[in-house]
Amino acid sequence: MVAIKDELNVYESADARFEEAVAKLGVEQGVYKYLKHPDKEITMYLPVGLDNGQVEVFTGYRVLHSTVRGPGKGGIRYDMNVTIDEIRALAAWMTWKCAVVNIPFGGAKGGVICDPAKMSKGELERLTRRYTAELGEWLGPERDVPAPDVGTNEQIMAWVMDTYAMHVGQASAAVVTGKPIELGGSRGRREATGRGCLINCDKALAKLGMKREGCRVIVQGFGNVGSMAALLMYIAGYKVVGVADIHGALYNEKGFDVPALVDWVSFKRKPLPEFPGGGAKMDQQEVLFQPCDILLPAAIENQITSKNAHRVQTRILCEGANGPTTAPADEILAQKDVFVIPDILANAGGVTVSYFEWVQDRQGFFWRESEVNDRLQDFIEQAFDGVVEAAENYKVRNRIAAYIVAIERVAKALKLRGIYA
Ligand code: NAD
Repeated sequence: MVAIKDELNVYESADARFEEAVAKLGVEQGVYKYLKHPDKEITMYLPVGLDNGQVEVFTGYRVLHSTVRGPGKGGIRYDMNVTIDEIRALAAWMTWKCAVVNIPFGGAKGGVICDPAKMSKGELERLTRRYTAELGEWLGPERDVPAPDVGTNEQIMAWVMDTYAMHVGQASAAVVTGKPIELGGSRGRREATGRGCLINCDKALAKLGMKREGCRVIVQGFGNVGSMAALLMYIAGYKVVGVADIHGALYNEKGFDVPALVDWVSFKRKPLPEFPGGGAKMDQQEVLFQPCDILLPAAIENQITSKNAHRVQTRILCEGANGPTTAPADEILAQKDVFVIPDILANAGGVTVSYFEWVQDRQGFFWRESEVNDRLQDFIEQAFDGVVEAAENYKVRNRIAAYIVAIERVAKALKLRGIYA
């Protein structure tokens, strides 16, 4: 394993897993070097007119990690903690994620250092349009196709689409996914990442001989991924006993009424810890260490580290978030025999339905929600089986197995194309 200088640097964690998988696979030197580095990166200084008449300059990034198997694909993050290293890691994870579920995309990611909660709608629109305009020819349905991530949403994707359309002089829905349905978004996209978590958890239960009924789930993060995963799992018969967001956490052994909780947080816009439906209040990280059968971090990176992994009390870890576990923590979880569904598999439902959206936009023909969900189930189940099989064949942890499946697919495609060196 490569030495990690800073455990909380997600790029170092991603690189350590890449190195471990490559060593197992025995990838040849040129291919290894090619895949280790991103194709290209851009840093942008984005002037944006604020509502008070001043101009502020925001720093934004886009990293295109790979286009070996298709156009770049990856979200845009608006957050104060965005760094180039984080975007690099997330871009590489997108390459591996798309390859694990076998969809014809490479990997990319973008981000802007900003606090969207403190910006007005007009400021967010101007920032988004300037970011899209600066990316210019990088973007395109055959080049790089963004999507939502932390701090961005359907409205922001609509502005990306419109700005791109104004610049190229034609409507082009397939340049971005996660759009509103009225603009060519896919049915089922909003729930897709959470649904992918549910499908993965069902597969893990079957593998481990466990049942949904009474199966205790803790979800950290109650945004797009966490709230949808919690809701779909509740509907499917799981018992959601712990929930958390940025404001704090609640734990209730008896299980939460998740539809009421979603209504409280997402529609009434009230603080999660004030939910009147019962439960002990605690710190948003502390909830990760309460007893459960499935732990589903769906918030931010670096939540489970070498300092706290020994406190985790779960049988299954389903990583809804990207990078919630650091590389040194992997070893501790393995010793505790936690069955890990790694992020590049667990949260791949989102990009899979983004792929369906891109296909539908290019065809100009839209599917029923049941068709989207059935196809999603097929892709995720096959990916899960492929990862578990690789774990057995290579005698490695699920995470390294997922990287092996992905790197092998990308390396094969690269060898067929040849390196234009
Ligand atoms: P979001 O902005 O909709 O929600 C994030 C949630 O996390 C919010 O409820 C927020 O309050 C909470 N949160 C933030 N900091 C926290 C903390 N320190 N402790 C507890 N909760 C905290 O974001 P999202 O789209 O749901 O993404 C969440 C994670 O899932 C990210 O890692 C993202 O990269 C990943 N992901 C998202 C998608 C997608 O389709 N949206 C797809 C794949 C992966």
